[in-house]
Amino acid sequence: MFALDFHTHNMFAPAGSAIVSLPRELLLNPEDFSPVPGALHSAGLHPWWTEDDVDRMLSGLSALLRHSQVVAVGECGLDKLRGASLSCQCEVFARQVELASEHSLPMTIHCVKAFGELLHLHKTLRPATRWTVHGFRGGPKLAEQLLDAGMDLSFGLHHNADSLRLTPEHRRHFETDDSGVSLADVLRAAGF
Ligand SMILES: [Zn+2]
Repeated sequence: MFALDFHTHNMFAPAGSAIVSLPRELLLNPEDFSPVPGALHSAGLHPWWTEDDVDRMLSGLSALLRHSQVVAVGECGLDKLRGASLSCQCEVFARQVELASEHSLPMTIHCVKAFGELLHLHKTLRPATRWTVHGFRGGPKLAEQLLDAGMDLSFGLHHNADSLRLTPEHRRHFETDDSGVSLADVLRAAGF
């Protein structure tokens, strides 16, 4: 079966086989972005990057999102273990939700230990475009909560099999992220 690698940092992924997340350097210098024909990218301000140069990166992001080969905003989101304070992360994230809506682009979400806050933001911000939680490893109860809220899920090599099973096919993605394994390995681990 053909599956798109929904989220990777592998800049060498064959064009069109993956949504490749752009590095921080390109948010700082968007004029350096020169994708190969057919390549798909996402661009976002990672929660780990929320301590410095935030305004400059948000303006770089805004420029990158005008490019037709940037098909998603992300990864962005909330991380209680790294980055600026959670309130600052929420603010940076909310600004990206606005950009996503302005450009009608879906969002790829990084969330570590902040699912309560993420669900709250989804409820209060009422985003105009789809959110997909990437690298989802949570159990079925959390999976159900996120799906019920309207979010989709993307699974990597390490995931909870019950969560994967209960996620409807059209709301389920697979990804290699920064694992270095192939998407075929991820799909095999998922039972395909
Ligand atoms: Zn990633």
